[in-house]
Amino acid sequence: MPAKFIIVTGGVLSGLGKGIAAASIGHLLSSKLKIVPIKCDGYLNVDPGTMNPYEHGEVFVLDDGGEVDMDFGHYERFLGVNCKSKWNLTMGKVFDMVRQKERKGDYLGKTVQYIPHVTDVIKNHIFDVAREESADLVIVEIGGTVGDIENELFLESMRQMKEDIGRGNIVYIHLTYVPIPYGVNEQKSKPTQQSVNLLKQRGIFPDIIIGRCQEYLTKEIKAKISSFCDVDPEAVITGLDVEDIYEIPVVFEEEGLPGILHKKLNIYSPPDLRKWKQLIHNLQNPQREITVAMCGKYTRLEDSYASIIESFNHCSAHLSCKVNLKWVETTDLCDMSLMDGVNGIVVPGGFGARGTEGKIDVIRHARENNIPFLGLCLGLQLAVIEFARNVCGLKGANSTEFDPETPYPVIDILPEQKNVKEKGGTMRLGAYPAVLKEGSMVRSLYGEKEASERHRHRYEVNPEYHSILAEKGLIFSGASRDGRLVEFIELPRMKYFAATQAHPELKSRMEHPSPLFYGFIKACLE
Ligand code: GLN
Repeated sequence: MPAKFIIVTGGVLSGLGKGIAAASIGHLLSSKLKIVPIKCDGYLNVDPGTMNPYEHGEVFVLDDGGEVDMDFGHYERFLGVNCKSKWNLTMGKVFDMVRQKERKGDYLGKTVQYIPHVTDVIKNHIFDVAREESADLVIVEIGGTVGDIENELFLESMRQMKEDIGRGNIVYIHLTYVPIPYGVNEQKSKPTQQSVNLLKQRGIFPDIIIGRCQEYLTKEIKAKISSFCDVDPEAVITGLDVEDIYEIPVVFEEEGLPGILHKKLNIYSPPDLRKWKQLIHNLQNPQREITVAMCGKYTRLEDSYASIIESFNHCSAHLSCKVNLKWVETTDLCDMSLMDGVNGIVVPGGFGARGTEGKIDVIRHARENNIPFLGLCLGLQLAVIEFARNVCGLKGANSTEFDPETPYPVIDILPEQKNVKEKGGTMRLGAYPAVLKEGSMVRSLYGEKEASERHRHRYEVNPEYHSILAEKGLIFSGASRDGRLVEFIELPRMKYFAATQAHPELKSRMEHPSPLFYGFIKACLE
């Protein structure tokens, strides 16, 4: 059976949660169908790996090493699948493919045009993924907002698709915004009507409209949107503002979305949200509360740390404990009184020297005061620098990333990175196994001899310093199979002091919280 398609577009505003809506739809239909999510992004970067988090939120990394849009985090967490980098199609990739084809002579004799050549590349890419994955259902999310120049070619391709695969095999869902203006106190449909008109001008007639709103859409507004936008009244669905994004599948189910999709696509895959609802219940009814200091650099934008925040939510649901995050900008951290009352400290990943000295001071504070500490990627590197300086007596120890002249380069560039000149997709990326040391805390947390976590870095613990660090008591609780790369460290006789060169937050799921995060929160609770 060839795959069926759901196309998700957005209007009115950006940031309405198209990714979460697409992921939630997938979650609801996943019981009997193999679902593959695809995200189309209109920017000309090949991938978001070269953008800073303020530009584009977190860069999500996949098992295969793909650096992709952060919506893939939602897809993986809601669908329980491991996505592939091919499933994120950017306009940068599309133009790359078209150019390569042109140079090879694939279009010999022809003028290469947006339609049909670029749109064909887009459609063929999507059909290829569907075929390669033997997908039953492909959910294609078009980034941006209808009317943006950037995504016109994607929208045109989506319009054409219905002819290629047949009307009954494709459903168009449009996510819009239903405001309740202050003082008017009434749900307003005009932005939705205008946004749907923009979509119709492009030849796309939505089958389902999801209206993001702070309350459930009333019968009246649904009827109005239905008549102005030519959709069935029951196909106008509330996209409710919720406290936790995990509630969205529950809202969509209540609003009858699965039944409508079953009918329109002639599929049957009934949702079973019992376990999911139980976890949400635990998340929202915590028995205890803790505060964790997040000592980072991009703390102005929580999207930069989306997966870390979700990893804490996963732990909350399992340990019945609310995790309050205290965002600490380490660039202006001068006094440790900011750490008063915190139950644990996290130093997340990052690049560049800015803020690193503040983070090193925080790690020292955690180590000397036995405050649970979790280091992620850069967090491991800084914990090693702190240990080298203050325990091993290597004054001025540093990473060559921050101080190329350091007398003790305890963190140094990976040998295979030394001659890398290109910036895009060239770090050590993707999932790698680590052998876990017998008897270590990390090994007992994972409960396995090996752990596979995802990476995104250029620097490593310098092998020349392994022995001195180990002699002074730092435990290498996990290493690459050849033993060269330090993947996990811990300190003994502490409540919890562990760090990893990887990003375990990327694989944490509601149903299976990341072991390292779970152990950390448990320690914070004690
Ligand atoms: N900047 C460090 C490196 O490249 C850490 C990267 C990270 O935290 N993701 O190795």
